[in-house]
Formats: sequence, structure tokens, C-alpha cells
Amino acid sequence: MSEEVTIKSSNFIRHIIEGDIEKGKNDRRVHTRFPPEPNGYLHIGHAKSICLNFGLANDYNGLCNLRFDDTNPHKENKEFVDAIEQDVRWLGFDWQDRLFFSSDYFEKLYHYAVQLVQQGDAYVCDLNAEEIREYRGTLTAPGKNSPYRDRSIAENLDLFKRMRAGEFADGSKLLRAKIDMASPNVNMRDPAIYRIRQGVIHHQTGSEWCIYPMYDYTHCLSDSIEGITHSLCTLEFADHRPLYDWFLDSLNLVSHPQQIEFSRLNLQYAITSKRKLARLVDENIVAGWNDPRMSTISGMRRRGYPAAAIREFCERIGVTKADNSVEFAILDSCIRENLNENAPRVMAVLDPIKVVITNYPEGKTEELIAPNHPQNESMGTRVVPFTRDLYIDRADFKEEANNKFKRLVKDKEVRLRNAYVIRCDDVIKDHDGEIIELRCSYDPATLGANPEGRKVKGVIHWVSAEHGIKAQVRMYDRLFNHPHPDSDKEVDDFMIHLNPESLITLTECVVEQSLSNVIPGSVYQFEREGYFCADSELCQNEHLVFNRTVTLRDTWAKIQQSV
Ligand code: ATP
Ligand code: MG
Repeated sequence: MSEEVTIKSSNFIRHIIEGDIEKGKNDRRVHTRFPPEPNGYLHIGHAKSICLNFGLANDYNGLCNLRFDDTNPHKENKEFVDAIEQDVRWLGFDWQDRLFFSSDYFEKLYHYAVQLVQQGDAYVCDLNAEEIREYRGTLTAPGKNSPYRDRSIAENLDLFKRMRAGEFADGSKLLRAKIDMASPNVNMRDPAIYRIRQGVIHHQTGSEWCIYPMYDYTHCLSDSIEGITHSLCTLEFADHRPLYDWFLDSLNLVSHPQQIEFSRLNLQYAITSKRKLARLVDENIVAGWNDPRMSTISGMRRRGYPAAAIREFCERIGVTKADNSVEFAILDSCIRENLNENAPRVMAVLDPIKVVITNYPEGKTEELIAPNHPQNESMGTRVVPFTRDLYIDRADFKEEANNKFKRLVKDKEVRLRNAYVIRCDDVIKDHDGEIIELRCSYDPATLGANPEGRKVKGVIHWVSAEHGIKAQVRMYDRLFNHPHPDSDKEVDDFMIHLNPESLITLTECVVEQSLSNVIPGSVYQFEREGYFCADSELCQNEHLVFNRTVTLRDTWAKIQQSV
């Protein structure tokens, strides 16, 4: 992350780590991990966790592992594993040789469970799911002991071995920790450690296992096995921390990581839940996990968001324990700031109207030179061909307008960006009165600058009709039109808040010639229009498709004020 000049703000987790280093805890090591479950693609919330875990490791000369928490095989698969690896790498982080799977530890976890049974800390329970729920009690009422709680160690050992051997059906038995059915913390009321899942194929271990360890049990032990020092997770796990510690203490493990919770990122107008994102994919609301409207990392990449801008966003929102909901405008402004600095400028006409320069020779092409960036000269220049027939944007012309309209008006002048001043002499319409062509004349003395005494304020963009290339431009907007689509108490389904105008496809656009060899995935500023990314899946040879990454200014702020 060397090229970035971000000033890292302190936060409570840094304070804890710095305190630990000072005390010499963990031999002053810092070792974190990012532990996704491969049951979907990563989203912007995960980006926060990735930046935090890998970022802290970088900053304190530590290490960060990538570990897949893969204990729930029927929801997980290899496609998700691959996508997650790609996304973490693209965000700019490197786990080196420390790619792990919880399933790597299944054998060890099994032996730890045997140890718990031998110590009298775990038992095999035959209650069914409904009975388990009934015995668990509620937040206000204590639970009841399972009738199987006092099985002998020998019987438990035998039953647990037979669970592994596949003798029992799904749901007929569970291995449970023997803790306290009256604990005020429901998580401590004899939680499940192993459940039976017959006949599922696990993406890493195939059909080797028919019992699978539960998340709470697996997570703390995986952390311990890997020598993690600080196990960072989101706040909903705070109530699970006693259990995290209970397993490690009961097994008397030397490596006992410290679990620290921070608040989840909730981004307005977006959804940060794999399950809900999966619904959008499954119900074909979007074109896959990497649809540019998705709050997934792969969607944002395809939309044209630079990885550095996402990292900057994660830094800016900070890390606290307070519940929060981050304004979309903060993400947008990180994207804009980055692209303003780094995106080359080009000209593209999204809604073309033809302009004929009547005093310009037919068949002539002039190679005008345009800077690729207004401030950064090192980004160089490019050739933009000027010809008699051009396109400008329909919105940049009016037959009549007052002085506030600083674009082309009949009988008035405007500057064509990087080229000449033109005057509109005539407007040609079809039978329905629709303007089909503007007849203009150009002033050869105005290339690059206004001659003395001449004031032409308006500047508009244009593309040569002869040399421009047809393109499709996808105008993306927010996928939801409610700031909290999935926590709106009034309705029970977030789908109601889908923005029907989240994608408007323009098919008649014309972009300048320099984009003919555009590299898919690269982002440009279409002057005066916004930032646009050449679609990484749909651009092929002469067939150009651009995704609008972000507008030049925050247009939503205005809309919100006016409603
Ligand atoms: P989801 O509900 O989307 O499936 P999850 O928490 O179940 O999210 P995991 O794959 O288990 O997804 O998450 C991996 C890591 O990312 C966890 O440490 C989790 O705490 C963190 N994480 C997930 N969502 C967010 C979020 N919105 N903000 C910050 N961290 C998050
Ligand atoms: Mg999860």
C-alpha cells in the first residue's frame, strides 16, 4: 500500500494492540485473520473487515491469514472460495502462504471434541431440534437440562465415534458442550459442537465427514491453532465471547487469542448481507454477483471503483463499537476524489445530435491535440480528429435561451472543447419538429484560445461523426431508493425498495476514437458527464460498453433536500 498517503487514524483496537505490544503480550506479535464463510461473494462490509485485519497486520509488522470458515457445506462452494480470494487480492492484500480452511483442522477439531467428552465437558444428546429449542429456555427463563446430559463418558465416547462413523441420521444426535442450562447467556446453555450431515459433499473434504463442527466451536479453535493474537469480529459476536473463551480454557490451550468486537458497516441505500444479496442474484433482479449495482466487491470493481478508493473509504469511516449507518455520499466522494486525480479525460456524446460545420471542407480531418488531464501533464495528450460532421449532446443545444445557458444557442457561439468556436446558423427538423441537425460555422482563428476581445464562455464536448465509435452506456444508479432497505420496520421485504431506474441503458452513444482500443476495466472521465468504466465482460473489439461509475457531483444530495 506504499503509494497511499493516508493518515491512519487511531481507534480502540489500535489502543488495545499497542497496549499488548507494550506489555510484551504474545511475544509482541500481532497476528490477525480474515475469516469469511464461502457462502456468497464479499461485500463492502467485508471490505471494512479486510482492511482492518490486513491493515493492522501491515502496520504492526504482523501477519494476517485468509481463512475460510467452511463448516456448513450445503451453503458453500468452490466458486465462492475463488471469488473471495480474487476480491481480497484485488483490494490490495496478500496472505502470502497463509491460506487456510477450517476444514484443514477437521481431524484436530474432532480430537479436541473427544478430549472434551473425556473430560466430562461434552455429551451426546438425542433431543430433536424442537425439543432442543424447548429445553433451551428464553432470554428471561432459564433452560432445562437435557435428559441425556448425564450419560457416562464411556457411552458418550462410543456414541460420538459412531456419529463420525455414520451410524446415525441427520438430526438424531448432537454433540453438545456441558456448560450451564441456567446461564443468563443463552449461548452458554449447552451449545451444539457437532451435528450430523449425511451425504453432503464438502468442497474441500469431499465425503470424508458426515459430522460437521459448529461455527462457535470451530472459530476459536482455528484461531488458536493458527496462533492468532487478536481475533476481530463484528458486534453480534460479543455474546458469543464467553463461549469462545470457554472452549479454549476447557481445552487448556496455550494459544488463547483475544476476541475484540467492532460495529458492522451499514451502508445507506445498500445491502450488506450475503443472504440478501444472493436473493437478488437468484431472483434475477441483477445480472449476477458482479452486477455493477451490487454492493459486492466484484460489483464495485466492475463498476469501476478503484481498490484504493475503497480502502480510503474504509479508513475514513473508522472503527468503533457504535452502531452506525454510513452515508453513500462518503463512498461516492472517495471514488470521485480518486478518479478526479487518476482518470484520463475523454469526450463522449451520450445523446447525439448531428452538427455540420458548413464552412469546413468535406473529407478533411484535422488532428487536434487534447490533454488527458487538466492538471497532470504527465498523463500526456492524445489526438482528437476534427471533421465537418460532428456530434454534440442534445442537451447542449437550445433554440432560445437566456444567458444562464452556457451552451450552444441558435445564432450564438460556443467553444468546442479542445477545438474551435462555432456558431449555430440553422436548425433542421423532421416532420414532427424534432431537431435532426444543426448547421454551424466555425472560426479558424479560435483554435485553443479566444482571439482578443472575444468572449465565449460556454464550452461543450463533441465527437467527430466520421471517427467516433458507437458505444452502449449503462447509467447506473442506486439499487435501492430507501436509505435502509433492509431495516425498514414498515415493510417486511427489502425488495419493495428496489429503485426501478437503477439501470438505464443508452444505446446510441458515440465516444471519441482514442477509446477504440480501450482496456476493459479502465475508467475515464467523459468530460462534463461523469466517470465511466469499460465493462470487463461486455467490451469486445469494436463493441464498446461503458458503465457509469459515478456522476461528477452528488446529485442525490439535491434530490434528498427537495423531498
Ligand atoms: P453476511 O451476513 O453478509 O453473510 P457474515 O458476517 O455472515 O456476513 P462472514 O463471511 O462470516 O459473513 O464474514 C467474514 C468477516 O467479515 C467476519 O469477521 C465478519 O464479522 C466480517 N463482516 C461481515 N459483514 C460485515 C460488515 N457489514 N461490516 C464489517 N465487517 C463485516
Ligand atoms: Mg456468517
